[in-house]
Amino acid sequence: MTGDQIAGPGLIEVEYWLDIKFLNMPVCCRCGAPFEAMHDVGDAYELVECAACIARKPAFDRARAVFIYDDLTSRIILRFKNGADRNGLKLMSQWCVDVAGDLVRDADFVMAVPLHASRLRSRGYNQSLWLAAAIARRRDLKLAHHILKRRRNTPSQAGRSAVGRQKNVEGAFHIAERHRKKLAGKRVLLVDDVYTTGATVEACCRALKRSGATSVDVITLSRVVSPTDPTI
Ligand SMILES: [Zn+2]
Repeated sequence: MTGDQIAGPGLIEVEYWLDIKFLNMPVCCRCGAPFEAMHDVGDAYELVECAACIARKPAFDRARAVFIYDDLTSRIILRFKNGADRNGLKLMSQWCVDVAGDLVRDADFVMAVPLHASRLRSRGYNQSLWLAAAIARRRDLKLAHHILKRRRNTPSQAGRSAVGRQKNVEGAFHIAERHRKKLAGKRVLLVDDVYTTGATVEACCRALKRSGATSVDVITLSRVVSPTDPTI
């Protein structure tokens, strides 16, 4: 990330900027997990999948994240998510484009992981939709915020195991029949704030592909890389 981007407003105190672990090292070409070491693959590193993706192919085509989720960056996410702080949106959307320019370039539509209607009413906003809209504006892409719906108000994913998370969101997302023509043959870029186990975005991807989307890529601001069960 460049120096003038580091001058971005309000995301986190200036003294912590250099401690943000940006995911700009070699990553799994499918899920975006960082590799601790890369041996003997030369220029082919862009085609290397991690062991988890080889063992089980994710429902999405490619996922990328801007930085690793940890004690420091969780504060950025919480300010954005619970504090409705939009000050850093311009910078965050630029980071997304920087880290996943090819995913953005290939997209026909940008959309966000939706909240259930009742959750949206009580919270008043969907921060992932803000980010999706900011990314779409940067590349003059179509923002499709009305197509993918969350038809079940699923309990929080926090504290659930990877399998528990899958079960919690399975079948939670839906695309109305009238929107399916719009998706046929299209490439979708799905935006969320945090990638934890990928269960939520995978459930979205399955719904989108069942409705005719050719490919679904995912961009998140942050990504959990800890092998322990997620607590967020
Ligand atoms: Zn992977």
